[in-house]
Amino acid sequence: MRVLVVEDEKKLGSFLRKGLTQENLVVDLVHAGDIALERLLTHSYDAVVLDIMLPGRDGLSVLREMRRQYLNTPVLLLSARGNVNERVEGLNLGADDYLSKPCSITEVVARVRALLRRAAGEHATVMQVADLSLNVVARAATRGGRKVELTNREFALLEYLMAHAGRVITKTSLCEHVWEHHFDTGTNVVEVCMQRLRRKIDDGYAKKLLHTVRGTGYALRGDE
Ligand code: CA
Repeated sequence: MRVLVVEDEKKLGSFLRKGLTQENLVVDLVHAGDIALERLLTHSYDAVVLDIMLPGRDGLSVLREMRRQYLNTPVLLLSARGNVNERVEGLNLGADDYLSKPCSITEVVARVRALLRRAAGEHATVMQVADLSLNVVARAATRGGRKVELTNREFALLEYLMAHAGRVITKTSLCEHVWEHHFDTGTNVVEVCMQRLRRKIDDGYAKKLLHTVRGTGYALRGDE
């Protein structure tokens, strides 16, 4: 899952990036509102942490423009303490949640995870595809009741696939949402990780869940 953090206080920004990265999220950090909006309109994100007081364009204006352009990415607003009007305006403009500053990194991370779960649908904490289940809070996966040991990257990959179960996911989209975009997509990093994941969840089971869609990408399917 890829998150955009928009925060001009450099120190807070890098703490937020660190906290979210530790949760296996892919994080992009920008320091100005106009840059944030441009990113949002050209890249695909699963959630946004948006400070209100920003250079370039303020957070509320970024939010207004996002919603005007039908960009429904969940937004967590960071507002100055005690500014009720700001928060009310933010919620009216379509923010999904807000926190007052100063805020704890742990709380920001927990709220972002909650937004991501909500966006992934009502299967909130536990996602299920056939007999494969993934508990995103306990960070545990099982198939047919047997524990599947996953690395952080494999977990992130499976989480993304399960959140989009039944749909074909392109390699590009996996690169964007599960990996830092700085890597060369010409390498076979995705294939290798996918191979390991497939071994762990499908080997020894008659019913295969992870499918390669030739020339397009991958799909996790439990209904065939
Ligand atoms: Ca600020």
